[in-house]
Amino acid sequence: MKRTEIKKLLERTDFGSLVNVKGWVRTKRGSKNVAFIALNDGSTIKNVQVVVDRNEDNTELLEQVNTGASLSVDGTLLESAGSGQKVEVHATNIELLGKADPNEYPLQPKKHSLEFLREKAHLRFRTNTFSAVARIRHSMIFAIHKFFTEEGFFNIHTPIITASDAEGAGEMFQVSTLDLNDIPKTEDGAVDFKQDFFGKAANLTVSGQLEAELGALALSKVYTFGPTFRAENSNTTRHLAEFWMIEPEVAFCDIYEDMDLAEDMLKYVIQYALDHCMDDLEFLSKRLQDEEKNKKADERSMELIEKLKFVLDKPFERITYTEAINILRNSKPNKKKKFQFPIDGWGADLQSEHERYLVEKHFKKPVILTDYPRDIKAFYMKQNDDGKTVRAMDVLFPQIGEIIGGSQREDDYDKLQQRMIEMDIPQESMWWYLETRKFGSVPHAGFGLGFERLILFLTGMGNIRDVIAFPRTPLNCEF
Ligand code: ATP
Ligand code: MN
Repeated sequence: MKRTEIKKLLERTDFGSLVNVKGWVRTKRGSKNVAFIALNDGSTIKNVQVVVDRNEDNTELLEQVNTGASLSVDGTLLESAGSGQKVEVHATNIELLGKADPNEYPLQPKKHSLEFLREKAHLRFRTNTFSAVARIRHSMIFAIHKFFTEEGFFNIHTPIITASDAEGAGEMFQVSTLDLNDIPKTEDGAVDFKQDFFGKAANLTVSGQLEAELGALALSKVYTFGPTFRAENSNTTRHLAEFWMIEPEVAFCDIYEDMDLAEDMLKYVIQYALDHCMDDLEFLSKRLQDEEKNKKADERSMELIEKLKFVLDKPFERITYTEAINILRNSKPNKKKKFQFPIDGWGADLQSEHERYLVEKHFKKPVILTDYPRDIKAFYMKQNDDGKTVRAMDVLFPQIGEIIGGSQREDDYDKLQQRMIEMDIPQESMWWYLETRKFGSVPHAGFGLGFERLILFLTGMGNIRDVIAFPRTPLNCEF
């Protein structure tokens, strides 16, 4: 018999039909005469209840039906008498596909800590929390492609291996086929990359932006959605060494239109989640409330679905970095020395505690900060006439802080070159980037959205290690 996915099965009303379901046992309970098996196949957060009449023939089999075991069940679709579920399957035949020894299977039907589950990442997809996150991740990937397609963008693939450092931050993983135990050296003792695979030093990309710009300067509107790699040794709840980034790049576009695009896109995908992921969001909302029930009322986060709607309701606040510094300097936590990094002057980069203060306490809505000091931003950002700031824009979100970083790009050849010299960006390896400013240069802008930060926000999960299936962080490359 053809398998029916549980998501589809739960919507059926043709009671009396014979059906087949397959899945993994979540729980088994029951009495002497009857067993109730909660079966889940990942197609939905919901389980289907399988009812089995115990008899001499199935006693041995039912003993092996433990949490984690996989089953194929033939049975009759019935209207459920119990509350909560509309349908159940009255089993006529059960096949044990794979057993799971209860003395060894690590996921027992009780609450496991997220830390414990990180060590069981090969199995954590089978929990409600991680399957919900995985389904929402999928929906967001789809929504992002849908949004950009509807807006007339073209998706381009930018290289994963690159010889340039887009951010100039030097936090790159090296890519090499040289024998690490016998590295060829030049006469002056440096590594001889001429003998390496590409004949020069190469890295994993930290951003697809530079190449996306090349696409935008021909196709007008492009975006990339690819993996990016940063060897930053920051063990925070918001940083991964390998993460996914969405990077639109638009020609004939200034920083204001760039901000509109960022706001429209975020609102579109959040609305999509509300329209398509409600079962999972409701589950995650309860999970979060449960987790925070011991916190003081003012330390609890806003209810998840309310929080998503809250972001949709109002226009994002748009202020300059300079205005933000003034607000922060005069803020209560700054005066009372509550910030870990006190704000005393103009020019320093903002920490996530500052970003969150602006969003959660001061404006009580997402904030877009613009016109940052040029010395804390990348070389490619368009310089303002004041000689001090650049046309950067960061979108700050509750709970997360920075979710998007973007800018209008410097389209003036001389200014770009000057900035590269000042910031020690090697022009030889970036000749192709400079050349686009020589031939038909146009104002253009774009941004990078960290996909996992978006998923953190949407799921209410607290640690970025829990919104990607197999996180890569310092000293952690298991699975
Ligand atoms: P942060 O200050 O939080 O480290 P950034 O300024 O380094 O961020 P950008 O270089 O502007 O970030 O990258 C664009 C977006 O990519 C960020 O807004 C964020 O959403 C995401 N991002 C950056 N670094 C990471 C990381 N290590 N792990 C996950 N997401 C990241
Ligand atoms: Mn960073």
